[in-house]
Amino acid sequence: MKIRLAALASLVALAAALPAAAQEKVLNLYSARHYQTDEALYANFTKATGIRINRVDADDAGILARLKSEGSASPADVILLVDAARLWRAEADGLFQPFKSTVLEQRIPATLRGADAGQGSQWFGFSTRGRVIVYNKLSVKKDDVDTYEELGDPKNKGKVCTRSGSHPYNLSLFGAVMQHLGEPATEAWLKGMVANMARAPKGGDTDQIKAVASGECQIGLTNTYYLARMMRSTNPDDRAVIEKVGVVYPNQSSWGTHVNIAGAAIARHAPNRDAARQFLEYLSSDSAQAYFADGNNEWPVVASVKTANPALTALGPFKSETIPVAVTGANQTKVQQMLDRVGYK
Ligand code: FE
Repeated sequence: MKIRLAALASLVALAAALPAAAQEKVLNLYSARHYQTDEALYANFTKATGIRINRVDADDAGILARLKSEGSASPADVILLVDAARLWRAEADGLFQPFKSTVLEQRIPATLRGADAGQGSQWFGFSTRGRVIVYNKLSVKKDDVDTYEELGDPKNKGKVCTRSGSHPYNLSLFGAVMQHLGEPATEAWLKGMVANMARAPKGGDTDQIKAVASGECQIGLTNTYYLARMMRSTNPDDRAVIEKVGVVYPNQSSWGTHVNIAGAAIARHAPNRDAARQFLEYLSSDSAQAYFADGNNEWPVVASVKTANPALTALGPFKSETIPVAVTGANQTKVQQMLDRVGYK
């Protein structure tokens, strides 16, 4: 009887072990990267490691809400977000875990990572994008829009269009401006922008570029990759839009153009932690970094990586701000309160 039980126990153990051994390695990825060209990025990782990626796509806010509701039962291993303030918020909410990696520390500048309290950062930037001003070349002089401050100047009354002030891209920009100018000046600036609006904020960045080209607005804000995408487009309508708009990197003679990141982190309760570590280090590899540039028109965070993207080359080198991107996260609550006070929807 004893033998039988032991035999049964080992059979049960074997049965439990078998599916695990036969199972392929997987990585559960929650991604807010909304770019179709990312497929190659994921496929190359699977090809190199044999690890299959299960992807859940949602926007930044949707991913954070899902992680919170799933709690310790969450299957998420890696979280990809497209904004520094959101990465900062998720860290503050305890949704990530620190990751000590010499590879990432060597390749990613400290200003583009989460703070390191000794156990490694909780998130890492893998690509950057500038937030630039676009203007209608027929009706606006470049000199009148070569700083962010001028977006709130009365000389630009009735000309400005942006997406919602509360969108992460704008919250982060305004948080950076608050770091550079201080709170009272930033609130006055936002109030000036509201007074300068050609229409109530709506749409995405590409919609602002199109509205500037059509003359509905004269001045807009956009992330650089949306511009580069239109510059590389074979659609004649996109080409026509690009012909009409000028692009300016704001604040080249002061603190530099605001730069945001797309970044990644290991989820607090990641069931496949080793796969998660491999994936994050893969994102810093030369090939993945070149992909961010050539596939999605972003700048690599690894300085030595060579890119071959004519649109990025045409957009040229520029002076970017040097504050750690994490400060935009710390400032976002105050910025949102300012937006509410000045009526920036
Ligand atoms: Fe985007």
